[in-house]
Amino acid sequence: MDATAKFELFASYMNLEPAEEHTPVQPVAASSNTLREAPAPYNTTRPGSAYARAPCGSSPAELRQAVDAASSPLKSSSSDAKKRALGISYAAMPGGKHMAMLKTLLTSACERDCFYCPFRAGRDFRRATFKPDEMARAFMGLHRTSAAEGLFLSSGIAGGGVRTQDQLIDTADILRHKLNYRGYLHLKIMPGADRAQVERSMQLANRVSINLEAPNAARLTRLAPHKNFFDELLRPLQWVEDIRSTQSAHAGWNGHWPSTVTQLVVGGADESDVEIMSISAELYKRLHLARVYYSAFHPVSNTPLENRPAEKPMREFRLYQSSFLLRDYGFDLEDLPFTQNGNLPLEVDPKIAWAQINLSESPVEVNKADKQALLRIPGVGPKGVNEILTARRKGKLCNLRDLQKIGVIASRAAPFILLDGRRPSQQLNLW
Ligand code: SF4
Repeated sequence: MDATAKFELFASYMNLEPAEEHTPVQPVAASSNTLREAPAPYNTTRPGSAYARAPCGSSPAELRQAVDAASSPLKSSSSDAKKRALGISYAAMPGGKHMAMLKTLLTSACERDCFYCPFRAGRDFRRATFKPDEMARAFMGLHRTSAAEGLFLSSGIAGGGVRTQDQLIDTADILRHKLNYRGYLHLKIMPGADRAQVERSMQLANRVSINLEAPNAARLTRLAPHKNFFDELLRPLQWVEDIRSTQSAHAGWNGHWPSTVTQLVVGGADESDVEIMSISAELYKRLHLARVYYSAFHPVSNTPLENRPAEKPMREFRLYQSSFLLRDYGFDLEDLPFTQNGNLPLEVDPKIAWAQINLSESPVEVNKADKQALLRIPGVGPKGVNEILTARRKGKLCNLRDLQKIGVIASRAAPFILLDGRRPSQQLNLW
């Protein structure tokens, strides 16, 4: 099988995880699996795929996108459809740029048997494997024609985590040092990789990731009973942070240590949102992850969880919103509006739910509040806060139109603010 056929085979079996700065989209309704593009939650930049599962970094919604693209010439050119069929999709990067990213695997063979994963050992489907040199050269063929600008490389586990990680590192080494590839590289770290391999991966990649899959060890046993939560998954994430905080970044690629991300499957193990947000808060605070991805569970045929119902896309969306509140808005776990069963309400934005409890009777004076207080106002993001602080130096903000002009979602903010001592809610009716 040639390299193109292998890329197509992987893309057609996998829904690649929502890598890079994937922006979740708001589902139409909590009970629906149909999605539409909607304003991104908080400070994200562009809607993207909301589906993803995390079989060591691989998955299947790209196929659906490829099929959609191929059958809808108005939406996408045929060259885009061809790219998607190979597993190339547009990833939104920090700063808002978009990059054509090849998301692929060294091998779709795997000796593990995670319950949710289409690649699990013993599942009957056609598999393929690249050698490191073959992968590196095939990717460079796409890169030289500008079909793929960046590479997200993962793998099933064949011959143990250490051996598989060696193959990933060999591929990255060939790309960087033989083929002079200087572009974006997201490298997966395999369960079972050792510390020296983690460090070597960090010297070659712009981003590394290890998927925790579940919020704690007890939940992981229900998804992947042969993965060890602490030794194989959490410890490598801790090594990444340890290396990054104790060693000079000169050793990293281009003088920078890579960022780190992880992913959790949502709804596969009866875990609660408070469990998911607890580990997310720790990962942001202690290990400085750039992003925690959430992937609503979808059953895969011929796996032990094939009869489990799919998780609601709205749950995934609310988790992303809450995650951004923890990461970018100064919220603590205790601020999130969990219900008695430990879940987030599906019907309301968590920032609005917090504001309804805390700001309805104590609105924030926009002309005096500090940065942290401004960030708590619904409709105001980090960029909006900076705009407000800049505008305040020039004069008072006296009405909703002033806020609207500087990018605040005034209708959302109105019930929770004062403008020069007055509640502005009534002004909305005038628009
Ligand atoms: S280790 Fe588990 S999640 Fe990863 S590819 Fe293998 S079966 Fe899938």
